[in-house]
Amino acid sequence: MSFVQKRWKMQDRYDVVVLGAGINGSAIAKALAQEGKSVLVLEKRRIASGASSHSSRLIHGGLRYLENFEFSLVREALHDRKYLLENYPDLVRLRQFYLPLYKHSRRPVWMIRLGLWLYTLLAGHGQKAQEVDKALFLQQFNLLKADNLKAVFRYSDAKTDDYALTCRIADEAEACGAEIVEDTEIKSIRIDDKEVRIELDGGPVRTGVLVNATGAWVDEVNARFGLPSSYTIEKLSGIHLVIDRVLVPDPLFLETASKRIFFIIPEEATTLIGTTERSETVEVDKIKVNNEDIEYLLRESNAYLKKALTSKDIKEVFIGTRPIIKSAKDPTRMSREYKLDLHRIGQNRVLHVYGGKLTTFPSLAKRVAKVLRSRQAVAKQGDALKIGQS
Ligand SMILES: Cc1cc2nc3c(=O)[nH]c(=O)nc-3n(C[C@H](O)[C@H](O)[C@H](O)COP(=O)(O)OP(=O)(O)OC[C@H]3O[C@@H](n4cnc5c(N)ncnc54)[C@H](O)[C@@H]3O)c2cc1C
Repeated sequence: MSFVQKRWKMQDRYDVVVLGAGINGSAIAKALAQEGKSVLVLEKRRIASGASSHSSRLIHGGLRYLENFEFSLVREALHDRKYLLENYPDLVRLRQFYLPLYKHSRRPVWMIRLGLWLYTLLAGHGQKAQEVDKALFLQQFNLLKADNLKAVFRYSDAKTDDYALTCRIADEAEACGAEIVEDTEIKSIRIDDKEVRIELDGGPVRTGVLVNATGAWVDEVNARFGLPSSYTIEKLSGIHLVIDRVLVPDPLFLETASKRIFFIIPEEATTLIGTTERSETVEVDKIKVNNEDIEYLLRESNAYLKKALTSKDIKEVFIGTRPIIKSAKDPTRMSREYKLDLHRIGQNRVLHVYGGKLTTFPSLAKRVAKVLRSRQAVAKQGDALKIGQS
């Protein structure tokens, strides 16, 4: 289905207006429309034009989050992975992921073994992780150097097409009755005791519930329209290189010289290499690919490849921005959990979505619907609801 420049049905009041048609805005719209609410989604560009089409395309619990003891986040994400594997088998597929360990690896073999055991346990399903024969691995991954290889582990995780998945969820939201309008410029948002009035080019739209699901733009939207909020975000950009051919038979996780994790993932006829983490201070729309980041990914990949990649091998570079709730200084240690931030203004409610992952959109949408149903949550004016810690 195409969502090109669709006009809304000129209804001038909706039960809920959602800002942003990324994976979260679309899933929230679907969940609320399924409850019989009239829902309008306003998207300033196109469906999935933000982080939801610029991710690493993994549907995963996040093995590396176990290092930060984020067990509840990993468990919830693995639960969502199971749901997505069962319900979107054409878009979310289980793959074998490989974790080679080298003499210089920061993470010792016992730690990886323990982490994978815990990961499989938290998943509660799926194939067990196992150590694989080094010689067999090098035979299959024949473009990799053999030097200093200590051990290799294999485990299962899932891979998707983030853009297609987001469009599918948006399609489903529409099928449930939600209206999605793209290329919409919001001129102003006025909130009085009785209603939220959103001024658009085609006239005003009114609602009692405004959901801000604008991802990395959340702070900018709050500042521009004077919306109350309990958090601010760190904008963390990440680039991916698309290499013009397939380099490895299965996805591979490796360590950089500074001990960060990066991956090499084969796609149909290309290879995805990512990602970087850079704190950004400019507006989201002004964030650009930095040459240093390209060089960094090439350098780190070349440390493992027999034949070095050059910029000539790059077919495409894309950049996405994560909204990470401000906390620790080290971006790799900043939590990927999400928070819902609910405010009551007169009879209206404004709910912001902060943070999150592509993988966790089913839980997140469910929580939003629950929070908006709950009278108790409404009574707790301005309370920030921390999600993913239960
Ligand atoms: C480099 C990178 C790699 C990642 N890899 C993974 C991964 O492998 N697995 C995983 O689970 N997660 C991953 N993520 C996280 C995941 O991509 C995001 O958590 C998820 O896509 C966020 O979805 P969203 O709907 O909240 O935001 P977005 O997809 O960014 O959507 C926000 C939407 O709001 C719109 N918008 C902005 N301002 C306005 C406005 N004023 N009015 C109306 N609309 C507006 C934007 O145009 C955009 O379409 C990654 C993220 C990045 C950046």
